[in-house]
Amino acid sequence: MPRSYVHEARRRVGPKKERIRPIIERLAVEHADATIALTFRSELELLVSVMLSAQTTDVNVNRVTATLFEKYHAPGDYLAVALEELERDIFATGFFRQKARSIRGTMRMLLEEFDGEVPRTLEELTRLPGVARKTANVVAAELGHAQGIVVDTHVRRLSQRLRLTKQEDPVKIERDLVKLVPRDDWARFPHLLIWHGRRVCDARRPRCEDCVVNDLCPSSRV
Ligand code: SF4
Repeated sequence: MPRSYVHEARRRVGPKKERIRPIIERLAVEHADATIALTFRSELELLVSVMLSAQTTDVNVNRVTATLFEKYHAPGDYLAVALEELERDIFATGFFRQKARSIRGTMRMLLEEFDGEVPRTLEELTRLPGVARKTANVVAAELGHAQGIVVDTHVRRLSQRLRLTKQEDPVKIERDLVKLVPRDDWARFPHLLIWHGRRVCDARRPRCEDCVVNDLCPSSRV
């Protein structure tokens, strides 16, 4: 179980239902450039990039896909080479055996059941081999069909510090967030927390003195 930040939220700052809009508005101004850090030019490249991003950094994935996507353009391309060749091509993203198997299984299903297109709903996306809820959420949101809120390590930490949730489990955190965050903001909300987490609200040393939501945050140290 990763470290919890729930206990840090001690100050009284008013109910979360009243804080959520100003939190989103201020973070949106502060991080106007907050978008997904993966590089892709098509829906298929988006799906493959997100699948490769498990257990590694976006920078690392972008480095690998810069050459990968020159070679693989359509679902059939991933099936046309030997498994070992695909494994070599994605080796640097780690867990390459499992990822290669998942990608090939996914490409097969795309061709057999979805006319080679990337589906839109979480239900369909999570049927693809190796596509878990988090991956499906990221893909659906980027395709303009957010059906949930992506919870990664930054979203978890900031949601706990801002006392938008008292939960530890990502699925339960997401359940709290979708009740609270206006639906129109489901796609951009995680990007705002991720960028705020990277730039200001560091896991070990949050820079509360420079934080635009410090008066709305029960964990503020200023
Ligand atoms: S940096 Fe901001 S969001 Fe993070 S704990 Fe401090 S005041 Fe709260």
